[in-house]
Amino acid sequence: MTEVRAAHVLAKPTGAICNLDCAYCFYLRKEDLYPGSTFRMDEGTLDAYLRQLVEAEPSPEVTVAWQGGEPTLMGVDFYRRAAEIGRRYLPPGKTIRWTMQTNGTRLDDEWCDLFLEHGYLVGLSLDGPRVMHDAYRVDGAGRGSFDRVMRAARLLSRRGVDTNVLTTVHRANGDHGLEVYRFLRDEVGARYLQLVPIVERVGPDGRTGSQVGEHVTDRSVLPEQWGRFLVEVFDEWVAHDVGEVFVLLFDWTLAAWLGVESPACIFRPTCGDALALEHNGDVYSCDHFVEPDHLLGNLAAIPLGDLAGSARQRAFGAHKESSLPRCCRACDVRFACHGECPKNRFVTTPDGEPGLNYLCAGFRTFFHHVDEPMRVMADLVKHGRPAAEVTAVLARREAARYARASRNEPCPCGSGRKLKHCHGL
Ligand code: SF4
Ligand code: SF4
Ligand code: SF4
Repeated sequence: MTEVRAAHVLAKPTGAICNLDCAYCFYLRKEDLYPGSTFRMDEGTLDAYLRQLVEAEPSPEVTVAWQGGEPTLMGVDFYRRAAEIGRRYLPPGKTIRWTMQTNGTRLDDEWCDLFLEHGYLVGLSLDGPRVMHDAYRVDGAGRGSFDRVMRAARLLSRRGVDTNVLTTVHRANGDHGLEVYRFLRDEVGARYLQLVPIVERVGPDGRTGSQVGEHVTDRSVLPEQWGRFLVEVFDEWVAHDVGEVFVLLFDWTLAAWLGVESPACIFRPTCGDALALEHNGDVYSCDHFVEPDHLLGNLAAIPLGDLAGSARQRAFGAHKESSLPRCCRACDVRFACHGECPKNRFVTTPDGEPGLNYLCAGFRTFFHHVDEPMRVMADLVKHGRPAAEVTAVLARREAARYARASRNEPCPCGSGRKLKHCHGL
């Protein structure tokens, strides 16, 4: 049996079922794949999944990642049972790292008891201040979920549950990177942040939720907007918060400058080890490709490790690299970007080739912008020094640039104005 990088299996015990109805949700539509289903993972599937995952995971830590839909709809007892089953299959020397991505609206003290008892890392979806969050994160009646999510954030914080805030970046918050970041850092107290761009393609049937179509909805973040958002957040982070706040996308970026494999599939040359498990045991190539064409099989018939190592899945993974357009192959930040996620590659390159990433302009801006600080951080890390020293190094370099510049030269801040009319005033 092939080993599976278990950290990248996203398990959906309720399938696409959720108590919210976020306007940009790409997953709700997957309900159509299972007409008549109860959308509840049964004990047999749960047992087979955990056993196969533990067997296939080569490293001492097995990660079980629950996602949805909304996984809390299964109820706390399902996860208590999962912990019992997981313990039964765990050989000596291995541990399970439990994680759950939730919209937070159903969390209470009983959930926190479960999270604390089993050391869960909880991902909480929150898109920024009320008006930005409620722009799209609504329930079936169209009511915003901000108050319910903030209540969950306070509860998780008060109870000391490890929490990672997942913020999607879209048209409604995309021009407010700094405001969103400061809100999450200062008002929510978030220390771990994941930023995910919303790119919703509109298919020929006028619907979203599948990877077809060349146009995007007006909720989707614009490419340049995405770049500006990242730059704003990065500048604030690198000036104040390195070592205190962890923005996953920045960690993944640093991996590229360190010359090590990215922890994230989107920035690796190939993909193929980020499987999705539906409630009935069906395994798909990726969370973003839960579609009939990408169904690998069901783990009741074929073990998870074999599905992960199947020729079809290897071909899916290799296609990311083999389908790169020429402009990506020649790109100076290819080592960091690798054309990002294939689901976003649906625009035409300047020389007319298909398959360029819709977000290219944003990623290009971001990677160029962070080049100097990333070089400094990589150098610090390689010399066994804390990356947080980057803030002082950059401040010293900045001061030296101003000291060297004469009043009639362009201002080192990059405004294009003379120093004497800008920061030299
Ligand atoms: S909470 Fe998540 S799964 Fe539920 S509708 Fe919103 S984006 Fe979709
Ligand atoms: S398609 Fe995108 S999300 Fe899926 S494994 Fe590849 S890079 Fe990751
Ligand atoms: S920045 Fe653009 S051109 Fe460069 S690798 Fe990424 S998607 Fe391709």
